[in-house]
Amino acid sequence: MPTLISRDEALARIRAEGGSPPCLMCAIRDRQVGATYAVHEDDDILVLLPRYVRRWGHVVVMPRAHVVTYTGVTSALWARINADALHAAKMLERIRQPLRVYVTSTGSSAGELTQTSMHLHVHVIPLYDDHDRPADVFSWQGGVWVGEPDEWQALRDEYAAAWRAAVTAQA
Ligand SMILES: [Zn+2]
Repeated sequence: MPTLISRDEALARIRAEGGSPPCLMCAIRDRQVGATYAVHEDDDILVLLPRYVRRWGHVVVMPRAHVVTYTGVTSALWARINADALHAAKMLERIRQPLRVYVTSTGSSAGELTQTSMHLHVHVIPLYDDHDRPADVFSWQGGVWVGEPDEWQALRDEYAAAWRAAVTAQA
C-alpha cells in the first residue's frame, strides 16, 4: 500500500537521491534522481509517474527540451504536450474512475525547488474526493504519498499498457 510521509521526509529523500540539480525535470529525464517510471517516451515528450504525490495515480507530461516559459514553447510542442495530457486524463478516467481530473501547468514562482520545477510540465491528477481543492492538492503540507518500487513499477506497467492500447485503438 502507498504510504503517506511528511513534507520534510519527502524533501530529505529527494535530496538523498540526487541532491539539488540545476533542473529537477531534466535530472528526472536523464535518470539522475532515482528511478524514473516512464509511462510513455518519445523524441519530444516524457510522460511519467512523479514519485511524491498528493493523489495516487498522478501523471506528469513534460517536454524533453528544457523550456521554462510559454514564450519558449512552439505551438507544435504545446499541441503535443496537451494531446498527451488529454490522453493521460482519458486513461485515468478509464482506469481509476476518479470524480474528476486536474490538468494543470503551475509553473514555479520561487525558482528551482526540490518539489517544484521551472521546466514546463503538466500535472494530470485524478481526484477521488468531491471536497478536493487546488490549495490542498498542490501543497505538500499534508504530506505526500509514496510507493514501494514494486508498487510504482506495477502502476507504471498498468499505465504503459493502457497508454499503448488507447493509441492503437485511435490509429
Ligand atoms: Zn529542465
